[in-house]
Amino acid sequence: MAIILDGRVVAQHLQLQLQQALNQFDKPLQLAILLVGQNPASLTYIKRKQKLASALGIQVLLEQYDENTTTQSLIAAVQTHNLSQTSGILVQLPLPSHIDTQSVLEALDPNKDVDGLNPINLGRLMNGQPTLVPATARGVVALLKYYDIPIAGQQVVVVGRSRLVGQPVAQLLLQQNATITIAHRQTKALASVTQLADIVVVAAGQPGLIVPTMIKAGATVIDVGLTKTDQGIMGDVDPSVSRKAGAMSPVPGGVGPLTVSCLMQNIVQAALLQSKYD
Ligand code: NAD
Repeated sequence: MAIILDGRVVAQHLQLQLQQALNQFDKPLQLAILLVGQNPASLTYIKRKQKLASALGIQVLLEQYDENTTTQSLIAAVQTHNLSQTSGILVQLPLPSHIDTQSVLEALDPNKDVDGLNPINLGRLMNGQPTLVPATARGVVALLKYYDIPIAGQQVVVVGRSRLVGQPVAQLLLQQNATITIAHRQTKALASVTQLADIVVVAAGQPGLIVPTMIKAGATVIDVGLTKTDQGIMGDVDPSVSRKAGAMSPVPGGVGPLTVSCLMQNIVQAALLQSKYD
């Protein structure tokens, strides 16, 4: 049976580190969350962020905009926060389809962009410079590191190439000297790719996509997927994979709890970046 990579334990460890890091600031850090409309999933995610921020003493300023808000007015709101006292700005995604999401993300001050989606931050990540990295990708690396899973020299297959998860995970693990393959919807014979991996990170949003025959015995399997189904929240990895894997992150309780903690780490990092450029 696989060792369970328990994200809740790692999240608690990160939160202790965060409490210490927050002590170095003489006033509470502040996160602005800009929400357009009333997407129920977005409201749930925001509640989780508010809960942990409040436990850590980070102030959250939630600004809600009408569903019909325009791209221009959202950009104006971002620009106001670029100049305000907030340490971090988060535009809750997805935005309604009439809004030009890319232009909104480009308007963010890169040193306040705690989701790490501004092109400057994505470029810094490619360059291997210290930068704000999407929190879920940070969470995957934190999980591997906490459990001392070797990364350097390992064959890693990342299933999924989104800007939010797959690509930044691949880039972070490449920086840690792994050999990376990125698989995606157009990948032919996915099993023949995943079978070669020492570490498989799955972020596809396809419940049960990865089954035991697709992995090497003893491989580490990180399941990022979270899909709401009639049976509850499901990951991308069939639970039976745990009988063949060497280590595996569960869903729920794996990468999920780490995402919010890593967002808080990004807020601290953003505040430090801003003080550097004061
Ligand atoms: P996305 O839809 O933007 O990207 C999915 C990626 O998976 C795409 O690159 C696609 O090509 C690939 N893919 C889809 N089906 C595939 C298949 N059959 N074979 C190979 N590749 C396939 O999704 P995302 O935002 O990257 O999120 C992925 C999953 O991770 C979702 O379930 C999402 O809910 C979850 N997620 C979890 C957290 C967390 O905190 N745990 C955070 C973000 C996303």
